[in-house]
Amino acid sequence: MSLREQIEAVPGMGALLPALEDLPPTYLVGGAVRDLLRGMRPFDLDVAVEGDALDAAETVAQRLDGEVEVHDRFGTATIVAPGLAVDFARTRRETYAAPGALPEVEPAPLEEDLRRRDFTVNAMAAGLSHDRLGELIDPLGGRADLEARVIRVLHDRSFIDDPTRLLRAVRYEVRLDASMDERTEELALEAIDGGALGTVSGKRMRVELMFLLEEEEMPSAVARICGLGIDKHMYPCLRCDPDRAAGTALGAAEVGAERSLAVLATLMVGDADALHPWLDRLAFPRPERERVARAALTGPHLAHTLRADMSDSEVHSLLHGEPVEALAVALGWGAPGEPVLRYVRDLRGATLEITGADLIAAGVAESPAVGEALEETLRRKLDGEVHGRDEELRVALAVARRTGALD
Ligand code: ATP
Repeated sequence: MSLREQIEAVPGMGALLPALEDLPPTYLVGGAVRDLLRGMRPFDLDVAVEGDALDAAETVAQRLDGEVEVHDRFGTATIVAPGLAVDFARTRRETYAAPGALPEVEPAPLEEDLRRRDFTVNAMAAGLSHDRLGELIDPLGGRADLEARVIRVLHDRSFIDDPTRLLRAVRYEVRLDASMDERTEELALEAIDGGALGTVSGKRMRVELMFLLEEEEMPSAVARICGLGIDKHMYPCLRCDPDRAAGTALGAAEVGAERSLAVLATLMVGDADALHPWLDRLAFPRPERERVARAALTGPHLAHTLRADMSDSEVHSLLHGEPVEALAVALGWGAPGEPVLRYVRDLRGATLEITGADLIAAGVAESPAVGEALEETLRRKLDGEVHGRDEELRVALAVARRTGALD
């Protein structure tokens, strides 16, 4: 199939292409072109406009009965229309005022837009406008590198300008089954040893790291970041343990945990003091930060404590309140699978039919004894000793009476 035919076959293109008529020149850019050339369906559609991109986005949205959401300081926009979501951005050049900082941007022709990108395989465009539809624009040899499975930066300062590209390089290596060319790897090592990773914001590092940990071939990526020494410069206590990372990823899929958070936690097991400063630097939103920290701190302990012959109430009491990422880490650290899956499948949502209000209405004093009576009753229910609301109430009141909370 020609590139033109491939583009026309992308879902949504049947509507988008005619809607680009009379607009400034438009091109499909970046990952979508790379993926089409690999014979894969692109995941995200990025369109570069040699002209006013916001204006073009408004026009296209109107023509397609869609909406435009304008974001970021570069003036990019997302069009969402029936059956289509696509990002529009003006072609631009970027200059870096300081290593690791966000770049200054200004409008520029397509070729310069391609030159600001990370690697040759991501620096190709394909015409979308009528007269150039399906024409590959590849001034930097991206197609040849894609075929030869080579990840190549576009200039010597690339990793210094933007050290997140170090993680991106590893991501594309494992994704495309490729390798950095000799010069690119030399530049990567120089940047890493020169402390480039310290110049970039923790949030940007985190975003790239999370993408990396979502890759299917993530264990190879873990091995690679350690081989390059990225781990030591990023977080000296990071564990180079691709096998545990792989086990945790499998565990995450089984228990419904977020894979990247669980794997990150597994890689951070070990040094409780170093954990928190690093999580602060990565600037996680609070709930995610807590899930990672908790999973890193308790996962191996759970693995050590869990046994296949534990009763339902024992499993519940051990795992109750733990984030699912902690269960994934426990599995990565060798926990027996059966009780973990039993917990997720049958025990996690277990509750009583009665509540504390029922006990108080029956005369139990408002005190910690209410919670204790409910807990004990739930424990017995989980072990099959209590059935139905009436029995729950009777058992809970008996427990409260025993502890002196009910006359
Ligand atoms: P993926 O399939 O991983 O999403 P993608 O290539 O679409 O791949 P994005 O991160 O969405 O990846 O970026 C889109 C494009 O923007 C890239 O293909 C690349 O050309 C460019 N790009 C993204 N990040 C950088 C960066 N840090 N430095 C230079 N160019 C970048």
